[in-house]
Amino acid sequence: MKKKGSKKASSEEIKVPFTEEELISRLKKHFPEPWIDLNFENPYQLLVVTILAAQTTDKKVNEISPEFFRRFPDPFAVAKAPLEEIEEVIKSVNYYRRKAKLIKECCEVLVKEYNGQVPDTLEELVKLPGVGRKTANVILVNAFNKPAIVVDTHVKRVSQRLGLTKSNNPDKIEKDLARFFSKENWVYISKALVLFGRYVCKAKNPDCKNCHLSDICPYEKKNL
Ligand code: SF4
Repeated sequence: MKKKGSKKASSEEIKVPFTEEELISRLKKHFPEPWIDLNFENPYQLLVVTILAAQTTDKKVNEISPEFFRRFPDPFAVAKAPLEEIEEVIKSVNYYRRKAKLIKECCEVLVKEYNGQVPDTLEELVKLPGVGRKTANVILVNAFNKPAIVVDTHVKRVSQRLGLTKSNNPDKIEKDLARFFSKENWVYISKALVLFGRYVCKAKNPDCKNCHLSDICPYEKKNL
């Protein structure tokens, strides 16, 4: 049996009043089969919608993505399209000019170096234009079902409130979570913590009254 608070995060010890198994079983009460709010059908589509989703709601991205993929069904279509045409299709999302440029550059690399396929390793993904570590991990988890830890704004907040990290730095938080959770649980927690932060442990007014973690959560400002 695992001892509570026995796992190490980098040089610091994570002291939490629950085990990994307990935390996951509570999260599964909220999200037995977690999903991703962005609509996609293949790794290329997830790559595009994830780039589009920065500083934009998933709802807005889901509204425009069907037309985008009708016009540009694969990276080859994006690579050969004029930039203005890509801009026109995505102009209702924030920073559309920059995103259009990144998506085009990214697809040009996919065509030139990967025969139009999206690579499935972190090392290759982070070299693509517009793809940082968070986006790469989103793709690994959701398109390839490969173990990776996604740290977005929701996961950051939830991890801090639960005492799983003391850091503000996403890379450090990723390391802390990677030490606390077993690798076989990374796909689950990457999906579940995003949803948990978005719908339960919200930035404002966390739903502590209906939270299945409330009796084990060490957050001092619980909304009870
Ligand atoms: S009890 Fe409240 S603060 Fe703690 S995890 Fe649940 S929603 Fe978040």
